[in-house]
Formats: sequence, C-alpha cells, structure tokens
Amino acid sequence: MNLAEVIETLDRAYPPRLAEGWDSVGLVCGDPAAEVERVVVCVDVTADVVDAALARGAQLIIAHHPLLLRGVDTVAASTPKGALIHRLIRGGCALFTAHTNADRARGGVNDALAAALGLTVTGPVEYLDTPLPLDRWGVMVPPAQADEVLAAMFEAGAGEVGEYSECAWRVDGAGQFRPGASADPAIGTTGELTRVTETRAELVAARSRRSEVLAALRAAHPYEEPAHDVIELVGGDREWGLGRVGSVPEPISLAAFTEHVASVLGAPARAAGDPDALIRTVAVCGGAGDSLLGVVARLGVDAYVTGDLRHHPVDEHLRAGGPALIDAGHWGTEFPWCGAVAELLWPFLDVAVHEPPTDPFTVRAAPEADA
Ligand SMILES: [Zn+2]
Repeated sequence: MNLAEVIETLDRAYPPRLAEGWDSVGLVCGDPAAEVERVVVCVDVTADVVDAALARGAQLIIAHHPLLLRGVDTVAASTPKGALIHRLIRGGCALFTAHTNADRARGGVNDALAAALGLTVTGPVEYLDTPLPLDRWGVMVPPAQADEVLAAMFEAGAGEVGEYSECAWRVDGAGQFRPGASADPAIGTTGELTRVTETRAELVAARSRRSEVLAALRAAHPYEEPAHDVIELVGGDREWGLGRVGSVPEPISLAAFTEHVASVLGAPARAAGDPDALIRTVAVCGGAGDSLLGVVARLGVDAYVTGDLRHHPVDEHLRAGGPALIDAGHWGTEFPWCGAVAELLWPFLDVAVHEPPTDPFTVRAAPEADA
C-alpha cells in the first residue's frame, strides 16, 4: 500500500473538512508515492515516539496533535521540532496528523473515549453548525444511456451518501408528446401523439458540487437540452460535532465512576462534585474540553469527562449547578483513539500503538493521607 492510499483511508475516516479553520491536519512530511508497511500511532510526536518508530522501521507515524501548527518558518535541525522532522525524513518515515477532524468524526477521538468508558452513545455534545447542504437531482434519459449519464454524475461527486457511493434510484416510464404543426421532431410525427420509454434517475449531491454535476450531466447526456430538475433538500440529519453523550450500563457513584475512568484509561483522574451522586448519563470530550462546559451544563447529564480543567472554570460551573466534572488528563482522554486508528488500518498494515504516555506530566505525588 502506498502512502497516498493510506491517506485516502484516513481522510475517509477523519474527513479534513471537519477540522477547525485554525487547525493543521494531513501530511506533514513524506512522499505520497512511498510504500508503507509499518505504522506507529501516537497522541504526540515526541522524540521517544520518533525513536520507537525508526527502531521499528516504520514508514509512517500517525499523530493526533499537530507537530507544527502556527507561525512555523523554519524546520532547521537546530530547533527541537525541526530536528524531529530531519530525523523522520532521513529515516524514510512520513508524518500524518488527524486533529480536530478526528475529534469530530464518527469513530474518532470522542467515540473511542466513550467506548473505552463503556458508554452507550446517544449523540454528540455539539452538532456542526452547518449541515452539509444537499441537492436532489432528477434526470430523464433514454434507458440505453442511463448508466453512462449516471457514471458521469458520480464522477462529478453526485451519489455519495455517508459511507456509500454511486447511490441512485431509477425507474423506467413512458414519456409522451405531440409535435406541433411547425415542429421538426427527431422522434415521432407532426400532429401524432408519440410515446417513448425513458429512465428517470434520482440522486443526491452536495450543493457545492452543483455546477460540476450539471457540466457532467450535459456532457454525457444524449439530448441537446437534458431534461432534469434540481431540488434543494432541507437539512435532514445534522452532522455530529465535538463530544459525545451516553449512558453507563448501571447507575454508579461519582467516586466509583472516577476510579473506573482512571482504571480503563490508564491515566490519573480527579473529579469535582458530590462523591456519592449517582451517575447515569455522561458527556465526554477528549483533550481540553472546558470550552464545552456551558453546552454540557444544558444537556442534563450527570457527569462530564474531559481533560485540562482549571480551578476557576470548574468552580464557576459547579456553583451554577452544572454536572460533576471528571478530569482524566489531556493525554488520557485522547489515547483511546490510537487503538481506533490501529483497528482501522490493521487489515492492510502492520500497526503499533505507542503505548508509553506522551503526557508531559511524568511524576505523580499525593499527600500521605491520600496514599
Ligand atoms: Zn488534544
């Protein structure tokens, strides 16, 4: 499998269009034509990860956090990150990042976190602002040319529904017309009612592809003026955005649930709220999720699991009656995604998850009374 094919698989799973505008996702270094056999998946590209990947002979590192984000104007080997880029290129190892696109995508960071916690997911914390606007196309075409016309429209981006492509509905029917006295019909006779068999095909396409789909239809259709209609569909299913909401299998106290979180994530966890409060429904957001505190407070859940929480936002949130908060660290809440990426690529590649935490906090101490 070459790198371009691996990227295609990753982009399907974590569509780059879901990424935040400020984010930097995709290929950082590497040749799309290069062959890939061995892959390492990690949250952060640290020197340890690069060591491990090169020792393994990996041709690709897939990371959650961008190594280079904003304001990069040098990758000189004398800079910490530039040195890693140099080592990767010298070692023939590409680097690919899926960040906020992986946070939002179904099966991404937040679904992996919810699954690790044993939640039954019922929806996202946030929907995407703009549901993908769709057109529905209807096309009349002689049956013999229907395949060809549909193929051209598919090629232009029509007929994509979720994980399915080349989706269309078609039926053969009778069209009829009576050419007027001064008409010069290609089929039929002046003044006589003529019936012809036509296929009607219906399919959807992103509104943004309308001009491409129309051009493809015109080019492939045998009629000089192809009979067609376009209807703008109102937003149906809204696209899922950040965070997930779900339920635990059995009601459990906040104290016991916090223990559960730490144990399944393999990361320290602390909670804010009444330790005896019963937890039934939980919101999660991998990484630094304090921007969602306000949204989560309106969801009516019993607890919110995220990372990187700070004293004052937590205090304010609890004073305002918000749900219990569990902070299981930034790395801890994002690491389950590495396993999801490995599962995605295992059928095709030799994939290893970089298990040692890349959490910059490496020492943990508690006062004696806690031990
Ligand atoms: Zn993160």
